[in-house]
Amino acid sequence: MPQCTVDLLATNHSLSDHELLDLLSTSDTETISYLHRRGREVALSVFGNKVYLRGLIEVSNFCRNDCYYCGIRRSNREVSRYRLSHEDVMLCCAEGYALGLRTFVLQGGEDPRQNIDWLIDLVTEMRQTYPDCAITLSLGEKTPEEYRRLKAAGANRYLLRHETFDAGHYGELHPEGMSRDYRIECLRTLKEIGFQTGTGIMVGSPGQTLEHIIKDLRFIQDLQPEMIGLGPFIPHHATPFADRRAGTVDLTLRLIAICRLMLPHALIPATTALASLPGQGRLGGILAGANVVMPNLSPSSFRKDYSLYDNKAAFGSESAQGIRMLQEQFATIGYEVSMERGDHPDIEV
Ligand code: SAM
Repeated sequence: MPQCTVDLLATNHSLSDHELLDLLSTSDTETISYLHRRGREVALSVFGNKVYLRGLIEVSNFCRNDCYYCGIRRSNREVSRYRLSHEDVMLCCAEGYALGLRTFVLQGGEDPRQNIDWLIDLVTEMRQTYPDCAITLSLGEKTPEEYRRLKAAGANRYLLRHETFDAGHYGELHPEGMSRDYRIECLRTLKEIGFQTGTGIMVGSPGQTLEHIIKDLRFIQDLQPEMIGLGPFIPHHATPFADRRAGTVDLTLRLIAICRLMLPHALIPATTALASLPGQGRLGGILAGANVVMPNLSPSSFRKDYSLYDNKAAFGSESAQGIRMLQEQFATIGYEVSMERGDHPDIEV
């Protein structure tokens, strides 16, 4: 498998399906390390040696959905459910702000109690209290009107992985009633409204083929998201996929590098799921072209209950400690953590 295919991707930001398939399936270790290297070089040329930090606040583990892969799915009776109050979230933000963080990411299950009015109040207060911070939401599918209201209240970014573009595969991962078409429509709406929009997939999810991944890459090229989330699927013991194999670090890193070369300006996290599998963890992600990490700001007493998969990596019991650890880890590979807002370079803020 010639390294010139990697160079072609770096130059043209695209490849044929056949070439992509080669890159995803080659076992030539030189080509794979060259792919990582080119991904890393492009990230360095756009962002320098900075890794942006985002303060992640897991606002609720109640969810109306029943995705087969997810540990907080509605049918999982083992979960000890919690939802943060408005005040809890504001306290997490205060802690994060004091640590220097300038992006807050609210993530959670689709919790009907944290309804749109509750969210609008929260985003409005966050915007007033922290005018210099970016507010990212990752709260699932909403109506276009709800997305518009959240944007108007001051949210800047929205993360909603499409999970898989192939409708048949989507149907294998989700129960009837969840629609791939609606998820894609949500992403198009988010872009249209002007959110910095993130999409992405679980790598190695049950039933996923390399052909599915190529469709995912084509969708990503077409949508041109500002953020791309790529993490390995990891089984959770109390889901229908308990016995399925986890995705691999290898394929996740290849995809990080490929996405970096396709969309050089994208914000790409080295995800917690990646860090949860044996290997170089977050560092491996950065060395393949990722440039974002999301330390956890959720109250430590609830963190274990936001369990999407088994053996989730933790940053340390306390956020300050987690950030120090990251600084030390990244320094070993010549990178610095950055507390800046770190917006997408093509967006006017
Ligand atoms: N409810 C929101 C949504 O649907 O986008 C946000 C929360 S959801 C739990 C966040 C992400 O977790 C999903 O997009 C999915 O890719 C990931 N996830 C869920 N279960 C996982 C698993 N078993 N392994 C890896 N990632 C998982």
